[in-house]
Amino acid sequence: MDIRPLDNLLSVSPQITPQDMTAIAAAGFRSVICDRPNGEAADQPSAGSVETAAREAGLSFRSIPVVASAISDADIAQFRQALDTLPGPVLGYCRTGTRAATLWALASAGKRPAAELLEAAAKAGYDLGALRPRLDAASRPARAATASSCDVLIIGGGAAGLAAASSLLKRRPSCAVTVVEPSDTHYYQPGWTMIGGGVFKPERTFRAMADVMPRGVTWIQSSAAGFDPVNNEMNLADGRRIRYRALVVATGLKLDWDAIPGLRESLGHHGVTSNYDFKTAPYTWKLVRELKRGTALFTQPPMPIKCAGAPQKAMYLSGSHWFDEGRLADIKIEFHNAGAVLFGVKEYVPALMEYVSKYRADLHFGSRLILVDGPRHVATFAVTSADGRTVEEARSFDMLHVCPPQRPVDVMRDSPLAGEGGWIDVDPASLQHKRYSNVFALGDASNAPNAKTAAAARKQAPVVAENLVALLDERPLPAQYDGYGSCPLTVERGKIVLAEFGYGGKLMPSFPRWLIDGTRPSRLAWHLKEEILPELYWKCMLRGREWLCEPTLLDEHAMASTGSGAR
Ligand code: FAD
Repeated sequence: MDIRPLDNLLSVSPQITPQDMTAIAAAGFRSVICDRPNGEAADQPSAGSVETAAREAGLSFRSIPVVASAISDADIAQFRQALDTLPGPVLGYCRTGTRAATLWALASAGKRPAAELLEAAAKAGYDLGALRPRLDAASRPARAATASSCDVLIIGGGAAGLAAASSLLKRRPSCAVTVVEPSDTHYYQPGWTMIGGGVFKPERTFRAMADVMPRGVTWIQSSAAGFDPVNNEMNLADGRRIRYRALVVATGLKLDWDAIPGLRESLGHHGVTSNYDFKTAPYTWKLVRELKRGTALFTQPPMPIKCAGAPQKAMYLSGSHWFDEGRLADIKIEFHNAGAVLFGVKEYVPALMEYVSKYRADLHFGSRLILVDGPRHVATFAVTSADGRTVEEARSFDMLHVCPPQRPVDVMRDSPLAGEGGWIDVDPASLQHKRYSNVFALGDASNAPNAKTAAAARKQAPVVAENLVALLDERPLPAQYDGYGSCPLTVERGKIVLAEFGYGGKLMPSFPRWLIDGTRPSRLAWHLKEEILPELYWKCMLRGREWLCEPTLLDEHAMASTGSGAR
């Protein structure tokens, strides 16, 4: 090992192996950060395998993979936050240690002079001179550090954040709304299932962020890096601070590809794919078209996940194609679900089971993907039986569709806004934070027990907007969210089982039963998914046109009895 200290907290090193972990722990380190993407070299141990060994040695672990030429503000914020929260001393590594040292220097800019950082790096053998302009630039705003301010600060410009911004401005055009969002592209993720099924071209599922940002909003293209809800302020990755009267958290969730060793480096090759990644959804359709015989595995991790039906939607659309092509006698389909049921709301299960039979799919419950060996085409599952015993089972595959484990975004999980498990802790009806009354959360980031879907965010946005206006006016909060979420299960090409339900699994159909019976496969529901819902998303939901999602408003008497209001 070649460990080089940069300061009291962080040392860096070239690539380490799982076998090094005992020595690293013995050297006094308490945490490890991996800054190298998986699959850069054939002999490179995966981050997952290093993480497993690190945890066995009692070390904390964080994965912040970066490419040297494209280190973003979000990467720097993540690294800074990791240094702030991981137990120290910390060891960062990549191929040579340079990326880890670079992240350290950029994360420290503004706190220490650039010259000092460069000198410390040089002493450790890393010439970071080329970073000088960026270090200087990063120092400036931090030193200037004036808190800009707004009425409502929205963190995240995804489905939920932009819908909330539009709904708020529709009600209160004079409100000063700022959205913090690092990405320059906005994705319509529900369309990715359709890409994987060969129905949509990828272009239908994204737009430039600038084109969908609601008019009247101030967009800051940066990431949230820290929260100070007691003082109504938050920090951006670039060092700026923003003060707000009310805060809305809509940062979505994190797809944890590195939680399964071998997955990240296999993805997009060797028959391993996922509709959960825009880049690999087209590969799903390529594999489906090309597979003539063999075994196709589809996986679902433990809940919560976004769009809990999406893992099986991928299976049904693939099965539908193979059925139509007469290939099912030669293709064996297996669905490996870490959970215990096919779908959480029982009314939809009979229709889904008809398709499981039609496609001759084998269902494996309590079966969690834990390892992917792409080159050998082998997936390993931890299978837990009814008596609680867990065994590992390896299965060969020709195609593997993976839904990755999902968890809260790191910066939110480690913030004072997080509740148990790291999700933002809100009241499920008002979506108001349980401890900070001027904070709301919606979309996948919150711990409200609804299905994490864009459909849920569509219903939540007007609720949050109503309640924000009331909060700013110092009135009781009038709007209540009923837990509505929707999952259009694409059971065959041309038919959908349209699951729509609220809190407690209560069925909440949007249409009369004679038009669409959600518990039965429907052609009209397919038409809705293929043609109408994308338009509804781009032209209504993101623009504050609240079709089929007017919020339920409490009258004064009801507000008094629920105790709803500014806490
Ligand atoms: P997102 O839309 O993911 O947006 C989160 C935003 O926060 C991102 O733009 C991100 O860049 C930003 N962000 C993250 N961290 C920070 C930070 N630190 N600072 C600032 N910004 C940050 N839903 C349905 O309703 N129907 C479906 O059929 C359906 N199918 C799906 C199929 C697939 C394959 C997938 C992946 C999802 C599907 N969904 C579906 C789920 C739906 O897309 C999500 O529930 C929805 O996008 C959640 O919205 P959100 O705004 O909470 O999160």
